[in-house]
Amino acid sequence: MPAKVAINGYGTIGKRVADAVALQDDMEVVGVSKMSPNFEARLAVEKGFPLYATTKDVLPKFEKAGIKVHGTLEEMLKEADLVVDATPEESGFKPAYEKAGVKAIWQGGEEHSLTNLSFNAAANYADCLGAKFVRVPSCNTTGLIRTLYPLDVHFGIDHVLAVMVRRATDPGDSKKGPINAIEPELEMPSHHGPDVQSVLPKVDIHTIAVKVPTTLMHLHAVSVQLKKKATEREVLDAWRRAPRVKFVKGAEGVKSTAQIMEIARDLGRLRSDLYEIAVWEDGVHVVNGTRLYYFQAVHQESDVVPENVDAIRAMLELEKDGRKSIEKTDRALGIAG
Ligand code: NAD
Repeated sequence: MPAKVAINGYGTIGKRVADAVALQDDMEVVGVSKMSPNFEARLAVEKGFPLYATTKDVLPKFEKAGIKVHGTLEEMLKEADLVVDATPEESGFKPAYEKAGVKAIWQGGEEHSLTNLSFNAAANYADCLGAKFVRVPSCNTTGLIRTLYPLDVHFGIDHVLAVMVRRATDPGDSKKGPINAIEPELEMPSHHGPDVQSVLPKVDIHTIAVKVPTTLMHLHAVSVQLKKKATEREVLDAWRRAPRVKFVKGAEGVKSTAQIMEIARDLGRLRSDLYEIAVWEDGVHVVNGTRLYYFQAVHQESDVVPENVDAIRAMLELEKDGRKSIEKTDRALGIAG
């Protein structure tokens, strides 16, 4: 019997997680819940996902829009072994999940303290086996963990400085900006550094963030002081063996995030998503043996999606071995090994 997964919040992340779950053979989507009867709600029904209204008071809105729902979130939770919460940060559904006795995964908008367990499939799958509540950290944090964890395993990390050039908003959003400005994050470090430590507590990392008018991807410029000497080739080999890291080359015309998303479109995956972290192979430099510099780009709408699938597998103990879960998820999503 496939595990029963519900999705609360069917927006940018929720709809991608729903599709990714539907592609696995050991889990199924038993419902998706929404606050508003918008185009995403209608498409969920057209895709065959059982649709639920989040609360009783929004039910009339769905009726008025002519979109049929199966009930409310409370009823959806009765059908599920686990709920993936992809609502905006601090939506406050933890008591509802506790009352229903379902396991739950939250996204990176939430604080680590909500679950005291943050997940990355390569770094701490085993720690999350059987867990009740888990958080998948944000897109940027997941991106940093994907490349820093293998470096720490192979060479040891003394300290990291990551400068993060963040996209203003997602392509489907016409409300947020900036549209003609560069906005520094004045908090120091930006929340991403402490967030990386929620999964890699021993890594000494400082992060600085600025927001720019683009919607495609985030870009990170990373400087790592390694403990052991490494060559550029050894660093690339460590990442080659790590999951969900993809190399791109400036020499082959990949000069910016625009060409990376063109590659994603050419790969022909669902929604042209790029689940992997893109690292510029010819942008990796080692100075004096231990000082590493590199650039990477993060497709914010999708890099956390395979992590959500692996987190489900760990929490429901559908697979005890993290490596096997990663391979299974990646095969279903078309991510090459
Ligand atoms: P979104 O706005 O695209 O979707 C949110 C969904 O929740 C929508 O279906 C909306 O109808 C519903 N919703 C809105 N308000 C609600 C409320 N008060 N109660 C219940 N449901 C409500 O948001 P998103 O970008 O998918 O973000 C969801 C979570 O994922 C956040 O924690 C966010 O920080 C995190 N995240 C987002 C991105 C990204 O780039 N978009 C990347 C990684 C993680």
